Amino acid sequence: MTGPALTLSVVIPMYNEEDVVGLLAARLRPVLDALPDAYEVVAVDDGSTDATAAILSGIARDWPQLRILRLRGNSGHQAALLAGLFSCRGAYAVSIDADLQDPPEKIPEMLALAVDKGLDVVYGARDDRSTDTAFKRLTAGLYYRMMRRVVGRRMPNHAGDFRLLSRATIEALRALPERQPVLRMIIPWLGFPSGEVTYAREARAAGSTKYPLRKMFLLATDSITSFSAAPLRIATWLGVGGVVLCSVLAVIAIAAHFGGATVSGWTSLYIAVLFLGAVQLLCLGLLGEYIGRIFVTVQGRPMYFIGYDSLNAGQPMTPEQ
Ligand code: UDP
Ligand code: MG
Repeated sequence: MTGPALTLSVVIPMYNEEDVVGLLAARLRPVLDALPDAYEVVAVDDGSTDATAAILSGIARDWPQLRILRLRGNSGHQAALLAGLFSCRGAYAVSIDADLQDPPEKIPEMLALAVDKGLDVVYGARDDRSTDTAFKRLTAGLYYRMMRRVVGRRMPNHAGDFRLLSRATIEALRALPERQPVLRMIIPWLGFPSGEVTYAREARAAGSTKYPLRKMFLLATDSITSFSAAPLRIATWLGVGGVVLCSVLAVIAIAAHFGGATVSGWTSLYIAVLFLGAVQLLCLGLLGEYIGRIFVTVQGRPMYFIGYDSLNAGQPMTPEQ
């Protein structure tokens, strides 16, 4: 590991962002050049299959502070973020999305807040999501409400992955043995002194979302199962409820039998069988989620491979974390 040679690293995960990289560079560079401190920009190309890589190389030719990190294959937003954080050299790192939904102009404010108040974490909290779709707002609202319950620590609302981390925080993250960590939950959990900067979420500058419903669902599942075993208890409570219900029904059935009344209809039987089948599948699925996490952790495979790093281009790369 290299010591913090620079004050600031800006880490940007990118997956098929050919439409925005040019706009991003044009807006980010003046902000960073105006800072009195030395900086680097770490663009993490998360296995893009479009022209992102070529455009990045073009921009890097006359922007020496732009460093390109290319992952071998698409590893996902969180892994790409970690790849950037674990390779960056700044005393502070700010992670930001490539699509300009988070304003780069807030970066100096975050840095100043961290330096002045001695904070390790500065969250970018969205106080206005009016540019997001109604569906995104609804799902995000539910997600953040759930996350606050699960983490059980102070967690800023609607703080996504636009945030500043100190070197100490990055090293604490690196020391975690966890696979598939959800950064926006694990960072509040680490408990470093933190502050926040509010901003209005802008609309995506260009291109389309790289977070389709499927990935949002995966993120939500990871978020819960990485923090809480509570869903496993659902199975127990369903079991208890089932026993109570069955006992009541058994008493009624026995009374009906001795009362001479024949059992009427198969409807209740049919519903009970279907219901129990569904409950069993649900519980199996829940178990599977946790066993899957154990499996991935035990395998201990790296979350990503760095195929290319423009900082030491030409040298053979060793697999990262
Ligand atoms: N991203 C990534 N790998 C992926 C998916 C997304 O590096 O597999 C990046 C993407 O390029 C963007 C950021 O993660 O910089 C957030 O994605 P996006 O803006 O599409 O998500 P949304 O804002 O729609 O939730
Ligand atoms: Mg976005």
